Amino acid sequence: MRIVVALGGNALGNTPQEQLELVRATSRPIVDLIEAGHEVVLAHGNGPQVGMINLAMQIASESKSGMPEMPLPECGAMSQGYIGYHLQNALYEEMKKRNINIPVAAIATQVIVSSDDSAFSAPSKPIGLFYSEEKARQLELEKKWTLVEDAGRGWRRIVPSPKPVDIVEKESIRVLVERGHLVIAVGGGGIPVIEDNFRLLGVAAVIDKDFASAKLAEILDADYLIMLTGVDQVAIHYGKPNETWLSEISVTEAQQYIKEEHFAPGSMLPKVEAAISFAESKPGRKAMITSLEKAKAGIEGKTGTVISVSHS
Ligand code: ADP
Ligand code: MG
Repeated sequence: MRIVVALGGNALGNTPQEQLELVRATSRPIVDLIEAGHEVVLAHGNGPQVGMINLAMQIASESKSGMPEMPLPECGAMSQGYIGYHLQNALYEEMKKRNINIPVAAIATQVIVSSDDSAFSAPSKPIGLFYSEEKARQLELEKKWTLVEDAGRGWRRIVPSPKPVDIVEKESIRVLVERGHLVIAVGGGGIPVIEDNFRLLGVAAVIDKDFASAKLAEILDADYLIMLTGVDQVAIHYGKPNETWLSEISVTEAQQYIKEEHFAPGSMLPKVEAAISFAESKPGRKAMITSLEKAKAGIEGKTGTVISVSHS
């Protein structure tokens, strides 16, 4: 099977040392899938990492260091390189150990978004430092940022979260995948760009990695989209006494559960929505949500939540 595996932020840790150690553990279930004969394409989140880079750049540029301001798309590109390097490094080691000879390459990925996306008129994703109200008003004028009060902790910049429309580097990714390489792509949801005549303009936005992974899986004609996160399964009545873990659900059931608001926006909801959009895109396509630790068991049908158009 061709499988797109999307890694959640919790698989990556918070410091470079922690990340390098964590990705070594992350590499095992991924190489298990390869060893079982599957064709794997990797996607990953970048929330904490792009936050760290953005913050460091912002503090440096506001100091007397003479550092220039670093725009958000460039910070996203840096995070793709930084995380890609660690994944390449760890996967290399894990495959060497098992005598598997598959080249690994991370691709800096630009993802096209539409300037008409309604997300641009309703920014929702908080990033960077917290400010006083006075400073926030000043930044709104100076930098044309949108800032909002964030849960009593101060004012913070928010950016839009548009939907992915297309992947610029898709042909390069496809060629490598067809050659049997292990490709890492759409890191952090990809670098959002808007097409303007012949130009691709990077925009200050954050594409949800769950939607970008579903788009990648669709474009590569994958059979399976697996989102590895912090829980083994998806639940309804999550965290309540009548919490019920789901093994297999149809798209129709999933849509009903969304209506009943069982999934938290910003965490589980985008995963279920991405799973639905991939499962619906072509007959036979399925999506699974499970934890990193259970990836192999999930594929073997022992755990995880599988979402498909219909199930028996
Ligand atoms: P990732 O970094 O993998 O994208 P998120 O934290 O964004 O992870 O989303 C996964 C989290 O969503 C789970 O760890 C869990 O705490 C939370 N969650 C919210 N609603 C549900 C639900 N209905 N069932 C299971 N987990 C849920
Ligand atoms: Mg998430």
